[in-house]
Amino acid sequence: MKDKLMKMLEEREDEMIEIRRHLHENPELSFKEEKTATYIADFYKDKDVEIVTNAGNGYGVIVTIKGGKPGKTVALRADFDALPIKEEADVPYKSKNEGVMHACGHDAHTAYLLVLADCLIELKDNINGTIKMIHQHAEEEPPGGAKSIVEAGFLDDVNAIFGIHVLPMAPAGTVGYHSGYSFNGRAYFKLKLQASGGHGSSPHKANDAIVAGAYFVTAVQTIVSRRVNPNNAGVVTIGSFDGKGTFNVIKDSIELEGDIRYSNEDTKNVIDEEVQRIVKGIEALFGVTCELTYEPDYPPLYNDPELTAFVANTLKVIEDKDIKEVKEFPKMAPSDDFAYYLEKVPGSYFYIGCTPKGVEEPYFNHHPKFDIDEDAILVAAKSVGHVVCGYLDKN
Ligand code: MN
Repeated sequence: MKDKLMKMLEEREDEMIEIRRHLHENPELSFKEEKTATYIADFYKDKDVEIVTNAGNGYGVIVTIKGGKPGKTVALRADFDALPIKEEADVPYKSKNEGVMHACGHDAHTAYLLVLADCLIELKDNINGTIKMIHQHAEEEPPGGAKSIVEAGFLDDVNAIFGIHVLPMAPAGTVGYHSGYSFNGRAYFKLKLQASGGHGSSPHKANDAIVAGAYFVTAVQTIVSRRVNPNNAGVVTIGSFDGKGTFNVIKDSIELEGDIRYSNEDTKNVIDEEVQRIVKGIEALFGVTCELTYEPDYPPLYNDPELTAFVANTLKVIEDKDIKEVKEFPKMAPSDDFAYYLEKVPGSYFYIGCTPKGVEEPYFNHHPKFDIDEDAILVAAKSVGHVVCGYLDKN
């Protein structure tokens, strides 16, 4: 069946590219992907599958393919939202939606998954188990779509989940994997510090918000340098310090905003606790009051070591002219809400090389000139096809 599936995918490569280009020309922002979701749902119309639309907190589309034989349930996820970026790439399939662009490759993710799903539907009598296609809205904008899809129970009957992301750090034909913590988690915070202002000539009658805020900025630098285990990674950034006033007036309040990144759950807990502790310390030290808004967003993404080894081994042993190299990729600094699925069920999120042909230094995801080698779409379909069939046959 696997050979048949691969042949079908090869025959439908042009269609995958066509779908990708259609989506690329018609990008929609997170939580506003109404037309994209309709396009996806229409693709499955009249096919023998169960379709749920408006899944989760937005336009998610979930399609269940029941195989002809009993077995486990595997979920495959492809995101379909775009970014508020004005496309600068000079391509024939340039965005027609001014200021919105598929600059992260989610168009390619959706294109491969639709065609792979259709081929699997055709072959479903031979499938050992059930395959759930999660077409996910809103990956780019917290709170994202993934968390709500998990909370709605769509993964309750799922045994394992797989997904891919296109990355231009390797050419089409390369598949990358990383075991364990693979993408960072992040949090946002805002601190409103209230003191009491006064005249520049009478500091003893005032309480200076600038000085207290400056101590806070310095103190949080010690979280990463003195509190985080040096084997783990964390970042605390104050990106905004609003303390504008008048040169001879002691400022009565300031507002700070910051961004936190962490490579694993332990580091997250350390940073969360320390920020709160330092805020309390500043209050005691300067007699000011602080209002802290602290919002954890996507968790660190943990690839199950066993299933990641399964992905790597499956793709290393198959002989497929389109999958040329399978190798370990480094840990990624960004975040992805695929992490929420992996908190619920074991799985692996792996990478599909997509450096455009003839380009030595490609533009990375989220760049206004980001583009992919469309050969990568077939590589994605085949890789995920091998993995999902391999998993269901084995279990
Ligand atoms: Mn992405």
